[in-house]
Amino acid sequence: MTAQPRLTVLAGPTAVGKGTVCQYIREHYPNVWFSVSATTRDPRPGEEEGVHYYFVSHEEFDQMIADGQMLEYAVVHGKNKYGTPRAKVQEALDAGRPVILEIDLQGARQIRESMPEAQLIFLAPPSWDELVSRLVGRGTESEQEQQRRLETAKIELEAESEFDVTVINDSVERAAQEIAHIVGAESAEA
Ligand code: 5GP
Repeated sequence: MTAQPRLTVLAGPTAVGKGTVCQYIREHYPNVWFSVSATTRDPRPGEEEGVHYYFVSHEEFDQMIADGQMLEYAVVHGKNKYGTPRAKVQEALDAGRPVILEIDLQGARQIRESMPEAQLIFLAPPSWDELVSRLVGRGTESEQEQQRRLETAKIELEAESEFDVTVINDSVERAAQEIAHIVGAESAEA
């Protein structure tokens, strides 16, 4: 009997490099399915509808919640709502693909409650100083937004012990390969 692939939550503090690590996994392990979240925040330059996020209004987001379409959702950085549309996740699991949700800590806790069989991976920075320099160096947020995100990051780092596994993002390639192994991904090069 083939085991049903598991749902994996990948969380970690802001600017730890989740996006870059996920991009590496996308390119090298095409059988892994990444959930596309809905969000009320505005697109950043280069972000595409349905690829990076589904960009929706607050009204549309609330309607999705009311219709029971969200597997989990949260207000992130005290500002915008982000959530995982349920149907597509189930479809991918039914199709036998490992599924990764790249979501925040609050979402990870909701998944732990609603899907205890899910595994939770915490992506950690090599150090706090490294995290600060990555956030500032990214240059996509205003100074006020950076401060807000660093506050969130402090709280998020304290939650590491709630996770099943910690992966340290000391190198994108190494961290991505470790995560791919944990989720049971098949390498494109294999
Ligand atoms: P960003 O605005 O930088 O794209 O994302 C901000 C945060 O929202 C990240 O920590 C990301 O993991 C989180 N996030 C993205 N999608 C979801 C989602 O569907 N649910 C939850 N709970 N958090 C999400």
